Amino acid sequence: MILAADNSFARKLADYALPLRHARTEVLQINVGKLCNLTCIHCHVNAGPKRKEIMTRATADQLVDWLAKTDIPTVDLTGGAPEMIPDFKYLVERLKALNPPRRIIDRCNLTILLEPGYEDYASFLARHQVEIIASMPCYSPENVNAQRGNGVFDGSIKALQLLNSLGYGIAPGLPLHLVYNPNGAFLPGPQVELEADYKRELNEHFGIVFNKLYTITNLPIARFASYLKNNNKLAEYMALLNDAFNPATVNGLMCRNTINVSWTGEVFDCDFNQMLKMQWRDGNRGLHLWDIDPVDVENRAILTGDHCFGCTAGAGSSCGGALL
Ligand code: SF4
Ligand code: SF4
Repeated sequence: MILAADNSFARKLADYALPLRHARTEVLQINVGKLCNLTCIHCHVNAGPKRKEIMTRATADQLVDWLAKTDIPTVDLTGGAPEMIPDFKYLVERLKALNPPRRIIDRCNLTILLEPGYEDYASFLARHQVEIIASMPCYSPENVNAQRGNGVFDGSIKALQLLNSLGYGIAPGLPLHLVYNPNGAFLPGPQVELEADYKRELNEHFGIVFNKLYTITNLPIARFASYLKNNNKLAEYMALLNDAFNPATVNGLMCRNTINVSWTGEVFDCDFNQMLKMQWRDGNRGLHLWDIDPVDVENRAILTGDHCFGCTAGAGSSCGGALL
């Protein structure tokens, strides 16, 4: 991976005179580890049931202690399946105790809520008013099972019905958003139209309601890059992303208002950069969250690579869906 100023993405930004720098931090995104009950083909984390990398309680405490000294309003928990780390409930309870209160997001794969040992997690999340952003790559079983594994569609439907029964997607304090990502080497369709399709199909066939649909572009890294290479589609996909570069997306890129931190506390511009080991550095020293003063983050240059074309293609892509 070629970093900083010498990659095609950085040159494209320079051509358009668009510097990419941090603004004020609005989101602390914590990737608690790579353990997951699924092994989806598009996974940018290479997560799975055999991964051992998970956050310890000592690291969780250090992150929350750091956060307590800031006014960063949103904490976005991701993984892996974040619920699978042994201290997930402890972490949520500590975050909920912060003053001022923070918005807490759990990026949930849905099926984990039905696994043995996790049956009470949905009610735990509801009780603590944790917002759920759930992966649901299609409203039909064929596409979901092809991308995420056999039986995942039925499990996801049952979990969504369980969440609705607890008030998710209905009560104002319990937002439930779904995430669509393409089932191959193509860009997502228009978010507004897909959201209308999802709402109609999931409600008609399964009685499910939810708040918003976020469309996310697959970035060509980790397991999805392997899938592209194995199918001789990597160059074609990179050309597609490059040709679809949209300068209007740059101002809204999530790396501008997010600090991303790993299960060990290392700091990155985003979860994709984390997977590419593009850690923030001070000279030779890799930085951890507790080395950083949030005030100093503003105006910091963002590390880029060719994978960044995935965020600026078409309507743009971020953890909150399309940018335009
Ligand atoms: S995409 Fe999400 S649910 Fe699928 S393997 Fe990766 S972390 Fe797990
Ligand atoms: S991958 Fe996307 S979010 Fe991450 S640094 Fe590149 S443009 Fe920003």
